[in-house]
Amino acid sequence: MPASQKLRTVSRILPAINTSDGAGVRLRRSIGSGEDTRLDPFLMLDEFSSDNPGDYIAGFPSHPHRGFETVTYILDGHMRHEDHLGNQGDLQSGGVQWMTAGRGIIHSEMPQQEEGRMRGFQLWINLPSNEKMKPAGYRDIAPDEIPVHEKEQGVRIKIIAGEISFNDQLLRGPIYGLTTEPLYLDISLDPNKSIRLPLVEKLNAMAYVFEGQAKIAESDLSTHSAAFFSEGDTVEITAGVKGARFLLLAGLPLNEPIVQYGPFVMNTVTEIKQAIHDYQTGQLTAV
Ligand code: MN
Repeated sequence: MPASQKLRTVSRILPAINTSDGAGVRLRRSIGSGEDTRLDPFLMLDEFSSDNPGDYIAGFPSHPHRGFETVTYILDGHMRHEDHLGNQGDLQSGGVQWMTAGRGIIHSEMPQQEEGRMRGFQLWINLPSNEKMKPAGYRDIAPDEIPVHEKEQGVRIKIIAGEISFNDQLLRGPIYGLTTEPLYLDISLDPNKSIRLPLVEKLNAMAYVFEGQAKIAESDLSTHSAAFFSEGDTVEITAGVKGARFLLLAGLPLNEPIVQYGPFVMNTVTEIKQAIHDYQTGQLTAV
């Protein structure tokens, strides 16, 4: 290892807890299960995974957001959505919706089965104070717009957001250039396979294992658990005997105060009161 490299270790392991949200969608929540389990700029990470439509079919009927972004990544099944702007879509398996709530969006998100099965993630990423009231917008990213790197035997990397150098090749996802510099990778490793990735030191970073097991430094990470990384510029991850599949997430911390009330995430109590008032008076999404 070059002397300049500083390996990240695991500073915290956070097993996902079973909970439900929306109209009764069962999910696993790791970061965001409490105020002390965020990783700036990430506010929440939910994993949906079920073979039973009763666990998710009620979905997330019309609801508001203000002050942050939601990133929905579907692995199996699909999700219908529509919003107050008249946008409608059907997010396909392997696709991503990157939604910037900004000053306000009111939308519905309704998971749909594929042979009974539905699996995916929703990540909430905070916005800096000077972008919380920008106009709402979103991007639907089709599966074939997301690059997949599989040149190394036993390694498969999907690059959803940001860029990373791997084996001297620069991999870049369809989403980049945001203030929080999010890196969002879906990585699969064959059994016992190890990879080393550079992770810019200024970024907070974590992994969330959703298949198999992984080892980072001396820490073992089981299925459905998140690991926050310590400071450093490189991470080494080794798959367990059955392989591993995990999200690797990194982002620039905002270091700003957070006041959250359900789907509103602002910097002050006054701004939260304003958001509630705006929603109740039909002005949440007014331009
Ligand atoms: Mn939503």
